[in-house]
Amino acid sequence: MTEQLERLNRLPLRDDLRGLTPYGAPQLEVPILLNVNENTHGLPEQVRKAIVASVEQAVAGLNRYPDREFTELRERLAGYLGHGLTPENIWAGNGSNEVLQHILQAFGGPGRTAMSFPPTYSMYPLLASGTGTRYVTGVRSDDFTLTPESAAEQVREQAPNIVFLCTPNNPTGTALSLEVVKAVYEAGEASSSIVVVDEAYGEFFHAGTPSALELLPGRERLIVSRTMSKAFALAGARVGYMAAAPEVTDALRLVRLPYHLSAITQATASAALEHADALLANVEAIKIQRDRIVAELQELGLKPAPSDANFVFFGGLEDPHALWEGLLEAGVLVRDVGIPGHLRVTAGTEPETSAFLARLRELLAAGIR
Ligand SMILES: *Cc1c(COP(=O)(O)O)cnc(C)c1O
Repeated sequence: MTEQLERLNRLPLRDDLRGLTPYGAPQLEVPILLNVNENTHGLPEQVRKAIVASVEQAVAGLNRYPDREFTELRERLAGYLGHGLTPENIWAGNGSNEVLQHILQAFGGPGRTAMSFPPTYSMYPLLASGTGTRYVTGVRSDDFTLTPESAAEQVREQAPNIVFLCTPNNPTGTALSLEVVKAVYEAGEASSSIVVVDEAYGEFFHAGTPSALELLPGRERLIVSRTMSKAFALAGARVGYMAAAPEVTDALRLVRLPYHLSAITQATASAALEHADALLANVEAIKIQRDRIVAELQELGLKPAPSDANFVFFGGLEDPHALWEGLLEAGVLVRDVGIPGHLRVTAGTEPETSAFLARLRELLAAGIR
């Protein structure tokens, strides 16, 4: 045990936090960062300027607390999402991670259960443990898909208070059909389960794949969560949001810290949303690189999972760690999500994707796979 861990263990830490490790995707300084599904294109110049102007205005009022209800931001988010949503349907936080935490604080907690279907987003169990919520898991098919029948049966069996359905799923890229969401919602009727559809990568769906936003009318236990961290290229600003029935957002007001969204954050996000089209302009370019990675990995004899996100999860590896290191030696950082025989790579710009694929080919030729 490290000295630091021993010192931590001497603290009067909650028993259920003992022995846990914090979220920790490596933050290394390398030229090509394809490990945490950021938008590697960066912000277009016009959007940067608009954000700076908006923040400058906000700075003039920094002696005052910000608008606790982030009214303008909720209006803009409702407008962006469409589907007849109004500001009363919208909630936001410092990243969708905070929104998910609010959901667990309001609907989970001691004596309650949250459920998801691994392999899925690694933050669900961490957010559950942070809020004292028991975390249970369901199973997917071998190809990471989930049928409505299987998902519904598992939810009926476990009767969780909260179900997380991640689509497109991180780390596999798998999209769920709306039939799965509907079936899980109906199966959660008896246990009055809150169903959270995490669409952090929703903008990257293949054309024609519908969003669960369509299902919101008449379903007061359904929440659709989104983020500005991925498609909007704003991971550093920390803005996530969700849409749900107004009574759900009222429930979250009970647990949020007062003034949780700073004036700087609100100004940044509002200015960015005013330029949503320019910000989303690179989404199609990223989708092209994503589809290219899937096709080329297949040609190389690897096993990429079909992806609706801005990343590709691939298997068929004997020594993923050696491959991860070989890529890093060439300045390309990808993600080892701890699933045997697999790695995950973010679809970057065309040159970044080419550099990743070229190095991968070299390593495979050298017998590393
Ligand atoms: C990146 C990601 C998020 C969002 O994180 P932020 O806190 O908004 O940066 C949420 N869910 C999944 C599945 C993600 O991959």
